[in-house]
Amino acid sequence: GSELVIKNLHANIEGKPILRGVNLVVRQGEVHALMGPNGSGKSTLSNVIMGNPKYEVTEGEIWFKGENILEYSPDRRARMRLFLAFQYPMAIPGVSVANFLRRSLEAIREGNKPLEEGENPSGKASKRKTIPPGEFRKLLQEKMKLLKVDNSFINRSINDGFSGGEKKRAEILQMALLEPEIALMDETDSGLDIDALKIVSESVNALRGPNMGILLITHYQRMLNYITPDFVHVMYEGRIVKSGSKELALELEEKGYEWLKESIEENG
Ligand code: ADP
Ligand code: MG
Ligand code: MG
Repeated sequence: GSELVIKNLHANIEGKPILRGVNLVVRQGEVHALMGPNGSGKSTLSNVIMGNPKYEVTEGEIWFKGENILEYSPDRRARMRLFLAFQYPMAIPGVSVANFLRRSLEAIREGNKPLEEGENPSGKASKRKTIPPGEFRKLLQEKMKLLKVDNSFINRSINDGFSGGEKKRAEILQMALLEPEIALMDETDSGLDIDALKIVSESVNALRGPNMGILLITHYQRMLNYITPDFVHVMYEGRIVKSGSKELALELEEKGYEWLKESIEENG
């Protein structure tokens, strides 16, 4: 199966070092939870893995499927079936969830160039390979059923005042449709309400399986009341300072991140 291997990764933003030597391996079929206090670099890590140009990698390597992907564009990484939720935000206003999903699927299929800014993919000038409507609908219906999403949802406009939970639903529907081999999910620190949390958890549980590896980034232990990860890692000041099984999350819940800080200082 596919592997994402991160070796001694260092990265800066605006000249400021944020990642200070991250080592991590995520294999297809495994669910990893990445925890850690706010500001420890979790979102930075997911951005660097996806190739966000705002971040400068100063040292280390990222390997995916046996290739060092550091020089690859975000688009090329996505075509290799590495996924970060909402990597294709659509600038076109009024586009439905269904169309948004169709475009993101077309974007990662062989032979298609990334969507140019302002390009209308259904316009005459566009030379994009499209997915036959019947094929797309069938695939979408299959994923909607799996994730218990109803028709009214996919017909709504993508920018149409979605709640936190609905945004997550769209994001996860996209993930299901694109069938990544390794998926990164960042539960933003803005905090999910309990409904959104359940949507995310149930969906992850529905999607997890031998073909998908998931790196679930979460500030809060509560997510792990619903999802049982295979591995738990704790990031602290730009490094993964502790890795373990699901029990590590419980230990963190009980003792907090301060405990971690003390144990790091003791061990040098
Ligand atoms: P986490 O996701 O663990 O909360 P982040 O990766 O978001 O952590 O942030 C790590 C550090 O990088 C923080 O100190 C934050 O202030 C800084 N940082 C993140 N994004 C930016 C940015 N766009 N510009 C400047 N500093 C940033
Ligand atoms: Mg943060
Ligand atoms: Mg974050």
